[in-house]
Amino acid sequence: MLVHICCSVDSHFFLEKLKEKYPNEELVGFFYDPNIHPYSEYRLRLLDVERSCKRLGIPLLEGEYDYEEWLKAVRGLENEPEKGERCRVCFDRRLEVAARKAKELGHKRYTTTLLVSPLKSQEQLQASAAHVDRELGTEFVFEDFRSFGGTQQQAKVTKEQKLYRQDYCGCIFGLSQQRAKQEVIMDEMLCPVTQRILPASIEERLAMYTRRMELEEQGIDYTIVRKRFLNYRLLRAFVRVDKKVVPSYILSYSHLRRDYAKARIEEIVDGVGYANRDEIRVIDIGFLRRYVDVQDMQALYFRGLEWNVEQRIRRDIDGEYSLSPIVVLDTIPNRFEIYIEAVSYKDVREELRIKDANA
Ligand code: SF4
Repeated sequence: MLVHICCSVDSHFFLEKLKEKYPNEELVGFFYDPNIHPYSEYRLRLLDVERSCKRLGIPLLEGEYDYEEWLKAVRGLENEPEKGERCRVCFDRRLEVAARKAKELGHKRYTTTLLVSPLKSQEQLQASAAHVDRELGTEFVFEDFRSFGGTQQQAKVTKEQKLYRQDYCGCIFGLSQQRAKQEVIMDEMLCPVTQRILPASIEERLAMYTRRMELEEQGIDYTIVRKRFLNYRLLRAFVRVDKKVVPSYILSYSHLRRDYAKARIEEIVDGVGYANRDEIRVIDIGFLRRYVDVQDMQALYFRGLEWNVEQRIRRDIDGEYSLSPIVVLDTIPNRFEIYIEAVSYKDVREELRIKDANA
């Protein structure tokens, strides 16, 4: 039986149950989810499914990430609510590709781990499968493993297995509706031009879940702890000197009273220029070299600073809990204009901790 897989939280429990119910059946996992956006989130979910399938001894195939085809299929349905018409098309597409793959590989039957998700409509999934089966002559296997305490059992397995728990269904449209309802920024869509990894970003989770697989391979015991903290995202910024935009780098947690200010440097103390407005501090690239080996503004622009280096600079200049704008420029100007659009917000971050050997 080919098992279409959506994520590890659904697949681990579903596959365990399938193995119990069909002990003689050869099961093959098939990760086909071009609906998942952004691509880093797709990689993260796939990574965790790979780990889960390995633990269960089930071979896994990866389908094509044909995101543009998926977008074409749901065109015009972007504003549909979850469980609406867009989800029907999304199920049709994923089940059709899974059924075709099952046929191609010579499997008699196929099913999907979406059936176990409490957030999905089983009726909608069955209707999609019936449509696919009529077209292709395939046989969909319907299983309800979520009734009779299944969902509670699934939550227990998720915790025990330390599976990656995503907090949105997968597509950009569902995500934007969810974040709008929660009145929080859609930070999943923010990716800096620098290659640095932002706190609580998908990239950070991807690095962490990759690292945990390495620890598991080495037999090192670890735990994942959750931490509440103040996060920050810079949305847009520029600095103008003599009416011309100049290369600038804005340190995290920089906020202006309003988004824009005209300022002049009043004094320079130990390499830090103190402006007359909005507690702005300006440092030059030479000052930055006290902390990192960086050639020029362009190099800084594309490389970025590590988050903890930025925090160290901020602490050294302005102390703990500072939200003053701290700007790096080639040289400290006399007068300048500055625009910073940024948000600070409460967030939760996961961290990997290696357990004490004797604990
Ligand atoms: S909300 Fe989920 S099921 Fe619905 S279209 Fe988006 S990814 Fe597909």
